[in-house]
Amino acid sequence: MADPATWLCPVCEGVNHGGRVCSTCGNRLPDGFVPRSAFRTPTPPAAPPKVVKAPSAPRTPSPAEIFGSDPFRS
Ligand SMILES: [Zn+2]
Repeated sequence: MADPATWLCPVCEGVNHGGRVCSTCGNRLPDGFVPRSAFRTPTPPAAPPKVVKAPSAPRTPSPAEIFGSDPFRS
């Protein structure tokens, strides 16, 4: 693989364009060392805040459900 056109120095994190010697600190990349690309890796978008559902109000049971039959119905 060819040297990345733009890379970050692993020592000083300086951005370099081509070559294998850091223009900022003079660090030479070891042979075979693949420096990080200076191109920003896209960060995944922040997860949307979770919508906390309000618990649904408990349903008032009908008398028929409570007593098995509606005692108020004659
Ligand atoms: Zn450097």
